[in-house]
Amino acid sequence: MGKKILIVEDEEGLRITMGDRLASEGYHVIEAKTGTQGIEYGHNETIDLIILDIMLPEVDGFTVCKKLREDGILTPIIILSAKSLLEDKVTGLKTGADDYITKPFEMAELLARIEVQIRRGEAIKAVHSRQQDDEPADLTINLRRGYMEVHGQEVPLLAQEIKLLDYMYLHEGEVISRDTLLDEVWGYEEKVSTRTIDVHVARLRQKMDDAKGVPRYIQTVRGIGYKFTSPRSGSSR
Ligand code: CA
Repeated sequence: MGKKILIVEDEEGLRITMGDRLASEGYHVIEAKTGTQGIEYGHNETIDLIILDIMLPEVDGFTVCKKLREDGILTPIIILSAKSLLEDKVTGLKTGADDYITKPFEMAELLARIEVQIRRGEAIKAVHSRQQDDEPADLTINLRRGYMEVHGQEVPLLAQEIKLLDYMYLHEGEVISRDTLLDEVWGYEEKVSTRTIDVHVARLRQKMDDAKGVPRYIQTVRGIGYKFTSPRSGSSR
């Protein structure tokens, strides 16, 4: 299948011309018309390259680029902008873009640079996935069967811990307040304070062997509550 290219461009004429040309070169083209759409579509990790305009409605291209990099998106980004000042190029590259082309541009040059960046992106992806595979699974959570495997050792989970983890899995990556956990996991009827939640979380971290340094799985969000990140391999709800 052809490589996927996301074009983030508000100028319709240019978007269509560029899209047609890229499609005729065998690329699969996805179009975004605003910065907000660019961020949204850019999170799709099957995209091989992003062509990003700077002056966009809602959110400008620099911000789109910065946000995607902050969220761990490694997709190569080529900025394509009428802003031709050196300081704009520097800003673009500093926010995490891989290349910067100024408008007006030659299609042949854009195509050549796209090829370079897609090759680079593939190499980065390959290294990244190799690193992930090499990492041993030191935590596996099996909620349905009510236990975890920590460094190969089976550790049973208490009913309340299963309920807590179940809720966290459903809201993975979100900030979950203590009050929400109190309502959703413990229920109104029980006489527990938010302190009880902290105690449970602390014990769960111990069980997960995640109590030293910065927790990897249940992170504390100061003044609010917690955020859950599931172990990369072998978890199931
Ligand atoms: Ca524009």
